[in-house]
Amino acid sequence: MDSPIIKIDDKHVPLYRIVWVSDVPHFCGEDDCMHEGDYEIRLDVDDSIWTNSKDRDETLKALNKWCSDPRPEGDDWI
Ligand SMILES: [Zn+2]
Repeated sequence: MDSPIIKIDDKHVPLYRIVWVSDVPHFCGEDDCMHEGDYEIRLDVDDSIWTNSKDRDETLKALNKWCSDPRPEGDDWI
């Protein structure tokens, strides 16, 4: 069985700590925003990880696998 831990950015994160994963890049309009264009991965503690689209996709893939989301067709996307 796969270990439910994924490396995002430089952090190893247990998948069960993830609450949600952003579908679109962050934009808030703040001049000093450090995360514009990054994808937010929300953790169940009051914290988030900010990453690129590739790591975001990897995270979603791992979450889907871990949750065993039943796909009616097309398992090959995992
Ligand atoms: Zn921002």
